[in-house]
Amino acid sequence: MEITFYGAADTVTGSCYLLSFEGRKFLVDCGLFQGSKAIKERNYGDFPFNPSEIEFLLLTHAHIDHAGLIPKLVKQGFKGSIYATEPTVELAAVMLPDSGHVQEIEVERKNRKLRRAGKPEIEPIYTAQDAFLALPYFKKVEIEKPFSPLPGLEVTFFDAGHILGSAMIKLTFNDAGITREVVFSGDLGRNGRPFMKEPETISHADLLLLESTYGNRVRPEEGDLRGLLKVIIEKVYRRNGNLVIPAFAMERTQDIIYILNDLVENKEIPPVDVYIDSPLAVEITKLFKKYPMLFNGEYQEKLRHGDDPLTFPRLYFSITQEDSVKLNNINRAVIISASGMADAGRVRHHLKHNLWRKESAVLLVGYQAQDTLGRKLLDGVKQVKIMGEEIAVKAEIYHYDGLSAHADQEELLEFVGKFRQKPSLIYLVHGEEESRLVLKKLIEEKYQVPCYLPHYQETIPLFRDLTGDPEKMLIDKGINLLKTKKLSANAKALLEKLIGELEN
Ligand SMILES: [Zn+2]
Ligand SMILES: [Zn+2]
Repeated sequence: MEITFYGAADTVTGSCYLLSFEGRKFLVDCGLFQGSKAIKERNYGDFPFNPSEIEFLLLTHAHIDHAGLIPKLVKQGFKGSIYATEPTVELAAVMLPDSGHVQEIEVERKNRKLRRAGKPEIEPIYTAQDAFLALPYFKKVEIEKPFSPLPGLEVTFFDAGHILGSAMIKLTFNDAGITREVVFSGDLGRNGRPFMKEPETISHADLLLLESTYGNRVRPEEGDLRGLLKVIIEKVYRRNGNLVIPAFAMERTQDIIYILNDLVENKEIPPVDVYIDSPLAVEITKLFKKYPMLFNGEYQEKLRHGDDPLTFPRLYFSITQEDSVKLNNINRAVIISASGMADAGRVRHHLKHNLWRKESAVLLVGYQAQDTLGRKLLDGVKQVKIMGEEIAVKAEIYHYDGLSAHADQEELLEFVGKFRQKPSLIYLVHGEEESRLVLKKLIEEKYQVPCYLPHYQETIPLFRDLTGDPEKMLIDKGINLLKTKKLSANAKALLEKLIGELEN
């Protein structure tokens, strides 16, 4: 089997791997590139492969950097099945049309400029309509139930604990008479999230493709978001102001609802109204409620005691524009709205109506990228421009750096450590160069498993270091055995002797 890295190699985003197996081609993920202008250019134009030659697609999860180019793939001739877990299929059905809508708005803005400059207009990467046309190709697969999309190839999805429906994917196939197992980690979740389960343990893989977003970062103990929310809400309630929380529609919003629910159920905050003002967040929250069994023990415990963790009195979902506009004239409310860095979306309206009020507060959650409104507020600017209007910043600005959905360095190492039989090779993907280099060093030192950092558009045989060299393979297997199994002194001596002979 051969692999080409069409994304998430040298970068974090645009996850896309093309696999070629006995002349048949398939993809794992087909994500949108996000970030710098140069990186985003890759989203336009033709794919570097022919979509009509791809027989099927295996999708790890619904995040746009993994699924975001699927509508373009279908538009350019792909006609195969897109295999994903049931929640991923349903999330994609709301997230992809939303993404198409965002592309249309972005291109419309660019085209207004181009028209004024007398230059030719550009086409959106895909439209909301294109996204709807891609949905019939999705096929639901069950977690931990192997299926066979091609003769000789078995595919199994495992819970990755990253977002609702997220999966790791294991391929099992025969390669020159040897059964091989290859695991794509997808994006890996973390331990101890508010209600997500931890990533499933996989005991065996010959080869692992591991994400490395936080390969260079051990996250400090997460602060107390619950305590912080309690303090801020009490303050704004007393002052007759509002708390505005810019939040991503997916996961972040539900995490905050979950914590607020706990505060309300335990009567720890005054009776504020809580508004979720983002149509996408409302749709996604509905899907979270549809799959309660996928969340952790604490979530189940609350349900058993009659508390739906994503519902509480005075929690309102505003969907229409009118619902949203009504929030311009309220007090003593918590408004959770997208986008998470306040660089787009309805949250800008709420910031416009609250930033100038010293009785209100803004809580920024997680990383705020350079040049976003969120970052400016974090940096303490006293005046901002929102939709063409100068707004004074008098509200209190808070920041909570946590709630990440990605495993950090320690958790990535722990994940590798849990393989009872270590892979003979690890490809580090989905990470910036520095992250990958640091993680490579740590894995090689700790587990003696060689790591390779693939490049964008690089094609390599999956088992290139081992194919054609059965002796090296035996040596590797032997060394692995010595490291992982408790062997008797006799067996150990014999194995060491054998390895020594093979090596000479
Ligand atoms: Zn993700
Ligand atoms: Zn990702």
